[in-house]
Amino acid sequence: MKQIDNYDFRGKKAIVRVDFNVPLNENFEITDDTRIRRAMPTLKKVLEGGGSVIIMSHLGRPKKVDPKYSLKYIVDRVSECLGVPVKFAEDCQKAKAQAEALKPGEALLLENLRYYAEEEGKPRGLAEDASEEEKKAAKKAVKESQKDFVKTLASYADCYINDAFGTAHRAHGSTALIAEYFPDDKMFGYLMEGEIKAIDNVLKNAKRPFTAIIGGSKVSSKLAVLKNLVTKVDNLIIGGGMGYTFIKAEGGKIGNSLHEDDLIPDALEIMKIAKEHGVNLSLSVQTRVADDFSNDANVQVVPSHEIPDGWQGMDAGQKSIDNWKKIILESKTVLWNGPVGVFEMPNFAKGTLQIAEALAEATEKGAYTLVGGGDSVAAVNQMGYADKVSYVSTGGGAMLEAIEGKVLPGIAAIRGE
Ligand code: AMP
Repeated sequence: MKQIDNYDFRGKKAIVRVDFNVPLNENFEITDDTRIRRAMPTLKKVLEGGGSVIIMSHLGRPKKVDPKYSLKYIVDRVSECLGVPVKFAEDCQKAKAQAEALKPGEALLLENLRYYAEEEGKPRGLAEDASEEEKKAAKKAVKESQKDFVKTLASYADCYINDAFGTAHRAHGSTALIAEYFPDDKMFGYLMEGEIKAIDNVLKNAKRPFTAIIGGSKVSSKLAVLKNLVTKVDNLIIGGGMGYTFIKAEGGKIGNSLHEDDLIPDALEIMKIAKEHGVNLSLSVQTRVADDFSNDANVQVVPSHEIPDGWQGMDAGQKSIDNWKKIILESKTVLWNGPVGVFEMPNFAKGTLQIAEALAEATEKGAYTLVGGGDSVAAVNQMGYADKVSYVSTGGGAMLEAIEGKVLPGIAAIRGE
């Protein structure tokens, strides 16, 4: 496999899949350019190495050509960050001449790939009452035309770089299929390399004790994560809304707390597997409960297994946090996914804040700490701890699938798996 650090870009054109799916306000101004900035090391490496770049991305979820989702709005910011004026191709499928004209050190941004159904390879515009046969035929047709779509993109360049971790769990044209046109000239960008290393640091090479903290709202959305991790970790901390399904499964009284009765058998199974593997599964022992799902609700602190009727668990109590902090500070590897309370409400953010603090302290003591996927990433960013942990993942869904143990198509395509 080729590596971006050793590749000779002199005189080469690199087509680079990035994730420039940035938030825009109603005036089409970028409200957070993190994703653009994170792709810069890769793009600059190609330009400084004497190559030129053809940058491709999606923006939002357009189902047809729709100016609301045009990447033209971000050209200026990309130019500013890259330090060269970036050219723009208004149709990603008609950019051959512009790509050919690129000189070393120049950059071209292609219009939103998802203007074409072929990027995702899913049929569009099917009638709601379409028959199964019609659906099948439409799917076949888009898969067929997808080949030409990808071939056209590939024809613009000499090498392919995937630096879009946020879409690595999708087998789309630009994230996976295109790689086959570059059997000897495909590689990960720096952002992807960083994410893959972070995943390997926890899932393959974890130093022990290894602790996972899984929080968030629902067991159903994290079931595969829990099942994959329960045999790999030494400590499994389950907090947040999803913890109450486990507490109920243990026979606890959870009042009006969030829970999923149909997942009680799964919760019991996870607890059984943990026991069989000698894994310390740690649930909340004390909860801050409220009489309403609101920041201004009345609050009391009760044992997590004795929540009164009419009250619901909103945040971890101090006793839970103290237990979890002790576990975190004794760990050499920590993976955190999901807040342990309704952290969006200031009165119920304390538990999540203290988890972020504990991770920062563990990191300082030499542990490897990864914050991956979803709202825990938002929490560490919001609370100012992003640069105090070892790594904060940029890919929500992709990181979640990685910690479920799935092979991500965007990674497999480069590795040639
Ligand atoms: P997830 O996307 O599954 O990681 O869930 C994140 C969401 O879980 C956040 O919006 C939190 O507010 C929510 N959450 C965490 N703890 C609780 C709780 N005790 N009750 C309800 N929602 C919670």
